[in-house]
Amino acid sequence: MPQNPITPTLPLDEDGKYHGFLRLPHSRNESAWGAVMIPICVIRNGEGPTALLTGANHGDEYEGPIALQSLAWELQPHEISGRVIIVPYMNYPAFRASTRVSPIDNVNLNRAFPGKPDGTATEKIANYFNDVLLPMADVVVDYHSGGKTLDFLPFACAHHLDDPDQQEACVAATKAFNAPYTLMLREIDNVGMYDTAVESQGKIFVTTELGGGGTATARSARIGRRGARNVLAHMGILNAEPEVERSRVLDMPDQDCYHFATTEGLVEPLVDLGDRLVRGEPIARIWPLDRTGVVPLEYFAQRSGILAARHFPGLIQTGDCLAVVATTDDD
Ligand code: CA
Repeated sequence: MPQNPITPTLPLDEDGKYHGFLRLPHSRNESAWGAVMIPICVIRNGEGPTALLTGANHGDEYEGPIALQSLAWELQPHEISGRVIIVPYMNYPAFRASTRVSPIDNVNLNRAFPGKPDGTATEKIANYFNDVLLPMADVVVDYHSGGKTLDFLPFACAHHLDDPDQQEACVAATKAFNAPYTLMLREIDNVGMYDTAVESQGKIFVTTELGGGGTATARSARIGRRGARNVLAHMGILNAEPEVERSRVLDMPDQDCYHFATTEGLVEPLVDLGDRLVRGEPIARIWPLDRTGVVPLEYFAQRSGILAARHFPGLIQTGDCLAVVATTDDD
């Protein structure tokens, strides 16, 4: 088995606070012996659980990077028992390019797990997390948002899992994150996802969708910052009380939640995020791009609930996710 070429420039298991890099050799035209330097912060104080916190798994999502930069700056060893491993920019080349997938190899990190030690740059990053960092962790928080093409109601989510005990632990940590919404998610296609790698190693896993559109807001950044501290407090790593507000429960029970565009065009939204929909009510129109005088294609809610996600850019392509309607606990 080939060795993964990534080396950390800091100790991963010594008491104290360290800022450094995961160094991934990357020989290229601009730098023959160069490397991709992925920033990492490790804070440890004695025995206790390990939390692995990651942002920018997709490079155009910003709440995670903001929350984790802030945590890496503020958190001190004396505040914790155990270890916190912080990687704000997991897919660093994608983050630097403000793109979802890596500009080096066009690979989506969140479809590259368990990765390959001798694969492309992104496959090597996936493999390093899968084989080195994940086995160290008890709890994993991976921040997502909608990126440039989607916008979400701010939620933290857990997955429907085969192991009821593991699912219960994930749900408890997800509730502790305390986003305004908490969701039980069914993925469209979970093969190759970091989520699947984390969960298959038996870890407690929290993921989020905290906004989107390729930016962050003051509100979504605040939710992200509070969530990290709340999960650390929930796990007994951070000696503090979690800050808790009401979180509404969302569910996406089946494929009817997802609405996909069957034509390209100009999107006219008819509802906004958080708006209530009864099954059969219109969600959006898509107008033609090349002429007037043609009836728009209208899309209708396939189930009752609230609009939990929407396509972000003004133009849409055939096959794009137009809207997600989720059910709520007060339906
Ligand atoms: Ca994402």
